[in-house]
Amino acid sequence: MKAPVRPVPAEEMHGKRAALAGSWEQQETEAERPGEVRARLPSHARALVAHIGNTPLLPLPSPNPAVRILGKAEWFNPGGSVKDRPAWWIVRGALSSGYLPQRELLDASSGNTAIAYAMLGAAIGFSVTLCVPANANPERKKTLKAYGATLVETDALEGSDGAILRARELAEEDPVRFWYADQYANAANPRAHEATTAAEIWDQTGGEVTHFVAGLGTTGTLVGASRRLRRLRPNIRIVGVEPARALHGIEGLKHLDTALRPAIWNESAVDRREQVRTEDAQAAARRLARDAGLLVGVSSGAVYAACRRLVREMDSGMVVTVLPDGGSRYLSEGWWAES
Ligand code: PMP
Repeated sequence: MKAPVRPVPAEEMHGKRAALAGSWEQQETEAERPGEVRARLPSHARALVAHIGNTPLLPLPSPNPAVRILGKAEWFNPGGSVKDRPAWWIVRGALSSGYLPQRELLDASSGNTAIAYAMLGAAIGFSVTLCVPANANPERKKTLKAYGATLVETDALEGSDGAILRARELAEEDPVRFWYADQYANAANPRAHEATTAAEIWDQTGGEVTHFVAGLGTTGTLVGASRRLRRLRPNIRIVGVEPARALHGIEGLKHLDTALRPAIWNESAVDRREQVRTEDAQAAARRLARDAGLLVGVSSGAVYAACRRLVREMDSGMVVTVLPDGGSRYLSEGWWAES
């Protein structure tokens, strides 16, 4: 039998969102005590989470022979995407605080974070409810169901913002049942990248990285990784990549000027924002598949397109990006066959 649970106080769920804006650095997270939580996991879950992170850093074709482009191959994570990192940090914090496994984890996600939570819920033993736009691609929805997660489909036209609003409503309606993870405001999201993604990049490049390029979705990858990389190399250039239009087909990225602003986002985390059109992101993903043997997702195509633009302007240096997921999650989309 599950232990009785107290409702999560409103300020714990929502007050932080307002208080947090641009200041996740100051927010305490329980995830800072990883050893204790890990020791309490079933051995199969402990083994699984041990494989999150430490992904390969692969050289990508560069149009400028003087400047290397390297990409973190995040599909090597056990859940198949970069989102295993923040999802695990978020879950670890909630296990440490005692919100999980008693409650159901609730969040909004267009796909990868949802899959990461669903995988962790199955391995560790907590329930997962996810608000997902109805037009999320079928591979993702099937994967979530395979892990045993509950899906709440939201209006396709409202996109990821519609899913966020629905998750907020559900969290307010039933705070005893749900623990709202809120990846857009949870400090454990950028912290995961500060502690792992950035540290790995620094080590794998021997400190030679001069430019860091990442897509902007929840913005956790960019704001977290840039915080550590700037400490290590204060003159590093940080480039955030976003879709060129509000209505776009780059799964995982947000058009920040028109979307709900993530509380963890901080404009000063970037030196420059690059806009990429959906067709260019798709063409760059096809190029990686055909010229490099790397089957990546469309947001990887977007950051790679931005990297190619960037290196053409440079005389020397090393550009590192994060390739958030693999292409097998997008095979039902028609653009792979274009020439
Ligand atoms: N690409 C894909 C495929 C994603 O799932 C995400 C996560 N939303 C991102 C890029 C952006 O990463 P972040 O949320 O850390 O900004």
